[in-house]
Amino acid sequence: ENFKQLGINKDIVKGLDELGIVKPTQIQAEVISVLLNGNTDLIGQAQTGTGKTAAFGLPLLHRINPKVDKVQGLILCPTRELGQQIAKQLFKFTKYSDKIFTESIYGGERIEKQISALRRPTHIIVATPGRLIDLVKRKAVDLTYVKTVILDEADEMLSMGFKTQLDEILNYVTGVENKWLFSATMPQDIMKMIKKHFSPSAHKIE
Ligand code: AMP
Repeated sequence: ENFKQLGINKDIVKGLDELGIVKPTQIQAEVISVLLNGNTDLIGQAQTGTGKTAAFGLPLLHRINPKVDKVQGLILCPTRELGQQIAKQLFKFTKYSDKIFTESIYGGERIEKQISALRRPTHIIVATPGRLIDLVKRKAVDLTYVKTVILDEADEMLSMGFKTQLDEILNYVTGVENKWLFSATMPQDIMKMIKKHFSPSAHKIE
């Protein structure tokens, strides 16, 4: 099966082709076929390099209405580098499709710069958890319209001490219809977080 057969729209497929992303990896085929078929929570055990960014990124792009100038998708990740990589991939995927605007925000950079960046239309935010909370408290980010929340490298986020912040964010985004979590490992603290914040019928991928 190729990306078009999986249900990815043809303009996005054109962007993927240009990146040499033609044959879905195993995790892409599985995740995309589940996530394009309706709202569901998903727990995926996946290492980096397996193509997991496109696996969650493409179904996320499908859930964004570009005509609505609201943050509709939120991706939480452990580091600035990973956040910027994710944002860059999403940007490239949409080269030939409706423009979907992604902003990446992270600690360690002047917050004023991020506040002014967030005044532009933004559909997807990629964020490290601490800085996101700062920006929400300053009312620079409105998460009211977020329908999809993704936790990428969840085990890394917990190792870095982001547990309280993740709990706070997940408790705060009450209108969310889809929560997707990816983690290379599934230690006890991850299992607890899944139990607390994810649907018991979440789709599981190993
Ligand atoms: P990731 O695991 O998401 O960090 O992706 C690792 C690298 O593989 C990135 O450079 C992607 O652009 C590339 N990639 C992702 N999916 C595919 C695919 N189906 N075919 C070829 N390359 C891919």
